[in-house]
Amino acid sequence: MNVIRKEIKKALSQTKEELQALQKQLQPIVPECAIGTLSRFEMMHDQERIHSAYLLVKKRHEALIHALEHLDSPDFGRCEVCDEPIKIERLLAIPETRMCVRCASEAGL
Ligand SMILES: [Zn+2]
Repeated sequence: MNVIRKEIKKALSQTKEELQALQKQLQPIVPECAIGTLSRFEMMHDQERIHSAYLLVKKRHEALIHALEHLDSPDFGRCEVCDEPIKIERLLAIPETRMCVRCASEAGL
């Protein structure tokens, strides 16, 4: 499980950096007088996009923390749906996963 621990830590520092970068881009919309209506609209649209990206990365970050905390538990690496062991290749690629390939694709993930 040491390889996976390494992968989780790597992914954790990546997502942390991404979160910080996205957070810097998230800014309150400036007053209307400062910019035109169109660019204001664009800006709001942009903020929305950044915000949803932020939430997505945050979710992954939290899942990674969860994975790290449960790395030593006997349930780690088992699919929470069918209880089959998750392939090591999948765990290395997506260490925060809690489902095997089959169940994840059936769930549409
Ligand atoms: Zn499964």
